[in-house]
Amino acid sequence: MSSTALGNHILVEFMNCDPHVMNDVAAIERDMVGAARKAEATVINSTFHHFSPYGVSGVVVIQESHLAIHTWPEYGYAAVDVFTCGDMNAWIAFDHLKECFGAKSYSAIEMKRGSVNLLTRNDFDITSAREKAAEWRNPDFYTRNVWFTDKDEDQALSLRFTGDVFFDVQSPFQRVRILESTKYGKMLALDDMVMTTIKDEFHYHEMIAHPSLFTLQNAKNVLVIGGGDGGTVREVLRHSNIEKVTMVEIDGEVIKACKEHLPEIAAAFDDPRLELIVDDGIAFVKSAADAVYDLLIVDGSDPVGPAEGLFSVEFYQNCYRTLKADGILVAQGESPKFNEKAFAELNQTLQSIFGQDNAPVGLFFVPTYPTGMWSFQYGLKGAADPRKVSNTEAIKSFVAEKGLRYYNEDIHFSTFALPNFVKQLIQQ
Ligand code: SAM
Repeated sequence: MSSTALGNHILVEFMNCDPHVMNDVAAIERDMVGAARKAEATVINSTFHHFSPYGVSGVVVIQESHLAIHTWPEYGYAAVDVFTCGDMNAWIAFDHLKECFGAKSYSAIEMKRGSVNLLTRNDFDITSAREKAAEWRNPDFYTRNVWFTDKDEDQALSLRFTGDVFFDVQSPFQRVRILESTKYGKMLALDDMVMTTIKDEFHYHEMIAHPSLFTLQNAKNVLVIGGGDGGTVREVLRHSNIEKVTMVEIDGEVIKACKEHLPEIAAAFDDPRLELIVDDGIAFVKSAADAVYDLLIVDGSDPVGPAEGLFSVEFYQNCYRTLKADGILVAQGESPKFNEKAFAELNQTLQSIFGQDNAPVGLFFVPTYPTGMWSFQYGLKGAADPRKVSNTEAIKSFVAEKGLRYYNEDIHFSTFALPNFVKQLIQQ
């Protein structure tokens, strides 16, 4: 560093970069930390955020100051600044990032910061400062803050994750990723939505299966649409009365990712009672025969991309048709607090097909879904009604025998107790 200035600042415009890299928070965090290391800086901390629908912001704090970035993937553009003091050659970091980002063009300006001629030096106890600095030389003494954010235009849920990416494939339908969150363990993300995590998946999977199966008591033939992580069929196949489960998942990459990296959830894929079909569930139900299923579970993602049609009237009319006379439909029902419109419209659809009093809503909590409040929506074709179940002893012993962690005989009923604002939303 020159004797006349305290710091050196390079401001860089990286242009015509790979838009996918510009939108990959884990890759950008890795490359920014890599750039600092390549320039022999001492990394203290890194904090990176991925914004929905796209864009990444982050900073790597180094003992020699910082590297910061904000990306516009839609323009293939990244604004980067490398601020250094001490002997670090910031241009080494620049070269590393230019390569990592695949920048086909760039501009950069370098400016000296902190002209000592204009500054007055204060007396400073350098010894204790040096002792503190020594602590930062420990290579492991660096905290990473890489955040995954699932959000809509008004609210978000952010999970800190380790930055490690175990699976990342752009399938014909969606981006399939397995990441590791520091609080909830490994997780499946589709596009930028949290689908399931190791630490709270049981909330969702126990509640999607057991209330209906204890209502039907002797279900034999079950159809699951979606559910590629395998958690729903795992819970359904805990019931010994089940003879056949047909699971129709549109995206084989989801099944592959979960079999490899979430084996606790994808635990029942080898069960002989399971027929696993990789196909579009909407088309499958359309061509399905009448009155064949006791239980039909729609374990689909949010109403975007491949799952949009899983919220249509036609799809649920076909579901109704393919259910036996006393059959039950259960659908991932969205949240009355995150996407009220989709939630309310789905219930209107079910009421219009199954009858106004035959479309109950069950609420439950999933900490890693935005707002944490989520729902399953039911369609009751016949008299079988989860709100009128009496075999609570059977539930109790099953819960104890299987070691269930969310569902029990009280939750079975309380899930249908709705707050007034939800009753108003669905006008039942
Ligand atoms: N628990 C999650 C939620 O609440 O959003 C859903 C989990 S599950 C992983 C959702 C699955 O539905 C995904 O694997 C997705 O590929 C699948 N899916 C989406 N649209 C589909 C369709 N049309 N037919 C079959 N599966 C579909």
